[in-house]
Amino acid sequence: MNFSKNVVTNEREIIETLLQNHTPSELKNLAKKKLYVCPYCDEKLIIRSGDIRGTYFAHTTNNACEKSEQVERAFQKYIKQKQRESFRHPILVGMIKDELLTANSGSKDIIIEEGYLSPGLTKFFPDLYVKIGQSKWAITVITKINESEDIQIASQFKKRKKHFLDNGYQSLWLIDRANFALEKNQNSIVLWETEWLASTRSSEDTKWERLLESLGERNEVLDAFSFSGDSKRKGWQVQSAYYITIDDERTYISVNRYVDDRVLKPFRGFLIGEVYRISLAKALQIQTENFQLADSKFENELREEFAKKHQTLLIIKKRKLEEELRRELERINKLDESAPWPVGKPKENQSGYVLGRLRKREKKVLSIDEAEELERKREEVRRSLFIGSEEEYQKFKRNLENTGRSWG
Ligand SMILES: [Zn+2]
Repeated sequence: MNFSKNVVTNEREIIETLLQNHTPSELKNLAKKKLYVCPYCDEKLIIRSGDIRGTYFAHTTNNACEKSEQVERAFQKYIKQKQRESFRHPILVGMIKDELLTANSGSKDIIIEEGYLSPGLTKFFPDLYVKIGQSKWAITVITKINESEDIQIASQFKKRKKHFLDNGYQSLWLIDRANFALEKNQNSIVLWETEWLASTRSSEDTKWERLLESLGERNEVLDAFSFSGDSKRKGWQVQSAYYITIDDERTYISVNRYVDDRVLKPFRGFLIGEVYRISLAKALQIQTENFQLADSKFENELREEFAKKHQTLLIIKKRKLEEELRRELERINKLDESAPWPVGKPKENQSGYVLGRLRKREKKVLSIDEAEELERKREEVRRSLFIGSEEEYQKFKRNLENTGRSWG
């Protein structure tokens, strides 16, 4: 087996770590003096070393206890699972573990362990297991994603997520910032499928959803922000991707909240508020059996700002539209003086088309009163453009309505 318990420190010792500072024969000597025991049956462990299996701990009777065998299997599976991660993976996991231990030292309600020791898990293992009161958390760091790997990881990812969930775990996924991709002109976050799957929902996301709902219909609000997304999607689904990054020897979590949009490659979402970062220590602060992962005060400010910006964008759009309409009506009024058209036909097809086009857009910015006022103006223009008696005009309108077409 790869691990033991140090009888002096009561800490878990991992053979790979010990071999960084000791030769196998040095370890053998330490083991002879009964420094290492099995954490599960407390039996003295010895060091075996050979060409085939390398250096490892073994029960003296050569019969490992059941529990230690089970943990060993979990450990080997975990090692295999994290094989594809980058060299940054163990560094980031180590930092998270240290931070959790420092932040919660002395707290009896919190257990922090290596992921392969997560109780109940058998198929997949997170990097870290955290138990807060009654809540069990599986924390996983994702470092390396590229196109060919994304397909494989994504399909495995779904199984991982389900395995954690089925065993009563909540998952927290932290993605190496190196994977982050932002499309600036659209304010859109572009994601690997794995990043999309690694996104989670928090109470702040729910607050954002409530705000967005109050602002209006999805397509209209997104249009105001010049985000062109999937027009068929309805309602608001806000979720968050958390990226982990080391900067100036400090570790940060950057918080990215987005409106879920395209769920095909490339996956894409509309970023709301502002991408901001918080220290790892703050992010991992525990509040009511949950990780903080946010600066709540700042989030409130961001929501206020977002609503204000939306208001301003609407006003600008409305002014622009009013100006366009004014110019269009002016143009149509001038057409009045040109040659008469045959009875029963609109005089200027194009004006009908332009008005129709404007109407689609004005719906987004005009109030009901304003729209009615505009409709009255249009009716005046239409009547003035129609060559024929009132009776003929009404007949023409009915015909149009019956065929479901419209004019202007
Ligand atoms: Zn044992």
